[in-house]
Amino acid sequence: MMLDERYEFKLINKLSSKIKISRPCVVGIGDDCSVEELNDQFYQITTTDLLIEGIHFLKEQITPYELGQKSIEVTISDIAAMGGTPKSIFLSLGIPNKFNEQYLEDFFKGIAEVCNKYHIDLRGGDTSKSLEHFFINVLVQGSIKKENLKLRSTAKNQDIVCVSGNIGDSLIGLKVILEELETKNNNYFINKHNCPKAQIKEAHFLANFSEVHSMIDISDGIMNDIQHICTQSNLGVNIELGKIPVSSEFSELFKHNDLKRFQMSLESGEEYQILFTISPGAFNRISHAYQSFFNKEIYPIGTMTKDTNIKFSLNNKSVELDIKPFHHFGKKNEKI
Ligand code: ADP
Ligand code: MG
Repeated sequence: MMLDERYEFKLINKLSSKIKISRPCVVGIGDDCSVEELNDQFYQITTTDLLIEGIHFLKEQITPYELGQKSIEVTISDIAAMGGTPKSIFLSLGIPNKFNEQYLEDFFKGIAEVCNKYHIDLRGGDTSKSLEHFFINVLVQGSIKKENLKLRSTAKNQDIVCVSGNIGDSLIGLKVILEELETKNNNYFINKHNCPKAQIKEAHFLANFSEVHSMIDISDGIMNDIQHICTQSNLGVNIELGKIPVSSEFSELFKHNDLKRFQMSLESGEEYQILFTISPGAFNRISHAYQSFFNKEIYPIGTMTKDTNIKFSLNNKSVELDIKPFHHFGKKNEKI
């Protein structure tokens, strides 16, 4: 069995079709979080993430403190993707016998740092021995003002597709860690891969605008995640390759190969920037408001289309690209 994304969705469908829905919710399986009624003004939103040693992280390649931080940041990123605020977590751990206490002490420091930063409470969890690997599961509950909820399914034709920051460094970091690539800036890229930051405040700000129609966080790469918005909104997209924002460290690697640069930035997962769509008439206003609030930009990278394909263009010419799915450590990514 090869657990690729298509098969994953088949499995989830198989499982969910066997369970009768007894209390319909606002949004069930299929978006970044599930959504339920909380009170007159707010929904409760819930999401969970699994980090497995050897698949999502290599124990020797990330410090326990960074791993603690990352476990929370990547999970609350799905709360950001709906426009919400994280409130509480349940933390479950499978701990191998060989662990030393100092490792866990540092891991908890990382967990606590992010929880304290966002005023997130620890409400429970489960702790067990594990035979060999370290397992981390975080469940996060949050809330969102009803009118601010953003879904994958609500993008509109002609919406401008935007991202909240540079894309690509995380994939390079992964390749450096896997020793598939050597760069002048190895530590910079490794840090981008090991220490992602959920865009909680940024997404919360954007969610206040009714003209922001749809949002998702980039966990599996722009290509993969825009595909979710397209499928669920029954639309397509035209991505203008030259507009995808990248760091100077990233672009320096591809000075002589633009197409490779575009391919890498579309494939790069674990970015945790927000990908969102804005009504074209509101783009300037929202972009200025964002710029004056955060002193940084949002980046338009394309347009939603009625035609349901995903297309790429460069200087108004269409371009063909072969985009591969993003893998964590479980499988080799393509060599550059
Ligand atoms: P994300 O990348 O934002 O974490 P995914 O694309 O991985 O989201 O997941 C898509 C949807 O499938 C989510 O709503 C998630 O809760 C759901 N899902 C994933 N695995 C399972 C599972 N084993 N059982 C039920 N739902 C699942
Ligand atoms: Mg997500």
